[in-house]
Amino acid sequence: MWPDLDPGRIQAVDRMEIYGDEGAHLEFCAYDAGVLALAYILESGRLQNALWRGLQRAPNVELIVGARCAAADFGQGEARLGLDDGRTLRAALLVGADGANSWVRQAAGLHADVYRYETQGVVANFECERSHDGVAFQWFRTDGVLAYLPLPGRRMSMVWSTPNAHAEELLRLPPEQLAARVAEAGQGVLGRLQVITPPQAFPLRKIRVPDIVAPGVALIGDAAHVVHPLAGQGVNLGFGDAMVLARLIAEREPYRGCGDPVLLRRYRRERAEPVAAMRLVTHGLERLFATRSRWLRTLRNRGLALTDRVVPVKNLLIRHAIG
Ligand SMILES: Cc1cc2nc3c(=O)[nH]c(=O)nc-3n(C[C@H](O)[C@H](O)[C@H](O)COP(=O)(O)OP(=O)(O)OC[C@H]3O[C@@H](n4cnc5c(N)ncnc54)[C@H](O)[C@@H]3O)c2cc1C
Repeated sequence: MWPDLDPGRIQAVDRMEIYGDEGAHLEFCAYDAGVLALAYILESGRLQNALWRGLQRAPNVELIVGARCAAADFGQGEARLGLDDGRTLRAALLVGADGANSWVRQAAGLHADVYRYETQGVVANFECERSHDGVAFQWFRTDGVLAYLPLPGRRMSMVWSTPNAHAEELLRLPPEQLAARVAEAGQGVLGRLQVITPPQAFPLRKIRVPDIVAPGVALIGDAAHVVHPLAGQGVNLGFGDAMVLARLIAEREPYRGCGDPVLLRRYRRERAEPVAAMRLVTHGLERLFATRSRWLRTLRNRGLALTDRVVPVKNLLIRHAIG
């Protein structure tokens, strides 16, 4: 759907600047790494609209809107989904893409380990006094992880992952005070800020689903895994799931159905490593910076500074992150 998106609503990230809580600094640069952009920032609603339009146009897709899932039954070679309008859908494979609280996951009896961070992701968009020049900023602070993600024009999207009490406090602030607080926390890098969308907060969780497949069922996206948003990789992980599952279905031997257990086991195997790696990195960083231990504070800041000096390691990290 990428070509269908309005290019005026997509912002390329040319540089990332990351700051530790004792002044350490780490910088990634697209030019130095020989890539066009480190990432692209796009409002999720825009992406969802484009995907929805694509589904409406697809000749081989029937959209069923308004009915709710009421019952599911997974037998050998067939999944049956009962809707609350009385219809029953039958398919070789039911793909659960219904987010972190997946109904499909529960109906299939797939267990999920949920870890609550006791923090919330506070998000809001701001108009900025200074141009961001395509730079994404991130601060690991004692009160959480603050990110400024550049949007087209002089706008940016903030994600502040912060303890529950502080998140509630931020939500209660009048817009001018919130803008001043966010500008101060971000060391004034973009000058004065003005709130353009009211802040919202999302409780942050890590969800590990040991088995993302069952006979006739496969989970993708947040239904299959939820990681801390500090790396901004949740959507990409879901796209990775969809790509691998679609490829395995397209390439399957002619005698295997879409819900074939061997195919589903291949899907589970191929996704295990990238998902585990992202979970480890995001959870590890969150825990490392959440701790108040004096020596860990020194260690984590030295780690950032050291990574900044070892250019091949930085470029390796960039190439891994952008796939
Ligand atoms: C604060 C915060 C900031 C984030 N920032 C980023 C970022 O910068 N970059 C990034 O890549 N990721 C980010 N993420 C993660 C990202 O939002 C998720 O990984 C992504 O939205 C998951 O997509 P999904 O389609 O799997 O699930 P969802 O986006 O949750 O979509 C699931 C869909 O299923 C529908 N649904 C649910 N139940 C049913 C049902 N029973 N029947 C029919 N439909 C149903 C829902 O209505 C919804 O439309 C962030 C997350 C948080 C909390």
